[in-house]
Amino acid sequence: MATQLEIARAGKISDVMKRTADREGVSAELIRDELAAGRLVIPANKVHVADNLEPAAIGRAVSVKINANIGASDVSSSLDGEIEKMKMAISLGADAMMDLSTGEDLDAIRERLIAECPVMFGTVPVYEVIVGRGVEDIDHKTILEVAEKQAKQGVDFFTIHAGLLREHLPLTKKRVCGIVSRGGALMAKWMVHHDRQNPMYELFDDLCDIMREYDVAFSLGDGLRPGCGADATDEAQIAELRTLGELASRAQEKGCQVMVEGPGHVPYDQIKRNMELQQDICNDAPFYVLGPLVTDSAPGYDHITSAIGGTAAAFYGASFLCYVTPREHLGLPDVDDVRQGVIASKIAAHAADVARGFGQAAARDRRLSEARANLEWDKHIAESLDPKTAQRMHEEACARSQIADSGDSADYCTMCGRDWCSVRINREVRDQF
Ligand code: SF4
Repeated sequence: MATQLEIARAGKISDVMKRTADREGVSAELIRDELAAGRLVIPANKVHVADNLEPAAIGRAVSVKINANIGASDVSSSLDGEIEKMKMAISLGADAMMDLSTGEDLDAIRERLIAECPVMFGTVPVYEVIVGRGVEDIDHKTILEVAEKQAKQGVDFFTIHAGLLREHLPLTKKRVCGIVSRGGALMAKWMVHHDRQNPMYELFDDLCDIMREYDVAFSLGDGLRPGCGADATDEAQIAELRTLGELASRAQEKGCQVMVEGPGHVPYDQIKRNMELQQDICNDAPFYVLGPLVTDSAPGYDHITSAIGGTAAAFYGASFLCYVTPREHLGLPDVDDVRQGVIASKIAAHAADVARGFGQAAARDRRLSEARANLEWDKHIAESLDPKTAQRMHEEACARSQIADSGDSADYCTMCGRDWCSVRINREVRDQF
């Protein structure tokens, strides 16, 4: 069976394309043409589509998507805990989930998560390859076996760290934070130990064959993404990006869908250049960025530093934002951290959609503004990106006020009080202007 890319190149429109077009409010022809050009992907493994996946598109022609990471580790969390996080993230609007579990029982965890996941599901297969063995003992045969097994299980996209080459390693020596990508660090250790090229690079054509068969999309991992502002846009990052551009073309030629991963930590003034470089080098393949975090000085608040960078990145070229939680750099996120991370990322994506004039984003803002101007609390809250939190805050404030008419029917809120409510006063006077 052909992949979505191959169907699009043949000029045909699949059921998956139609479904994504309906969700976005765009034409199926637009989805097909962007897919065929490699500017859009629909990570939709045939096994997952046949089961419970609601396919979604990632690219500049559609709304900005967000990913939430989950994953049990051998030092924290449990399968039930990760399922709770996943369900909560999806209920808040996460468009994709990545399972970054490490430790034991990865198969059981993955199977259960996919069975309960109606959105795109991604993994980093090398995490499973090292279970029960040292990094040095990773072998080519096991990499392909694990990739094939996970493809059969229904994973929609794989992060493959194939762009980090042996010759790139010396470029990281002067870095402040060195190699911060987990997959990148594992590959670097293997290459140094064996004095050989990156096995993911050597196996790239074989991985393409497996991924093409199930239509698993590539998410070409940036093993050399900058881990701090001082390392951003350096030689190592750009050298790897050039390899990722070559690999993107190779995978597309073999019929695979491809997106490319990007930084990381990037000072605000470098974000535009980073996005333009990626689009130029990778032939406009959809760009999937982690954050980017615009400052390194806010542990505990990195959902905010990444949301600031996420809006800029999505405005200038990225199509897919990986969330960051407040617990980033500090520990495994709990359910509330996941909630805050998803909401921050949704806000970043929505703000970018408003700024680039995409689809219904500005219309939603206008509906909310009209409800606010009319002091219609129920509509105002219903249109918000996190209605539960907005409702809770409003109710708490009303309860604290101890004023009988300060609830949903009141024509003011407790922020200013009735006599100082400019919105209410404006409604009284505007007809007399
Ligand atoms: S009371 Fe103040 S904050 Fe509340 S609706 Fe009126 S103007 Fe806005």
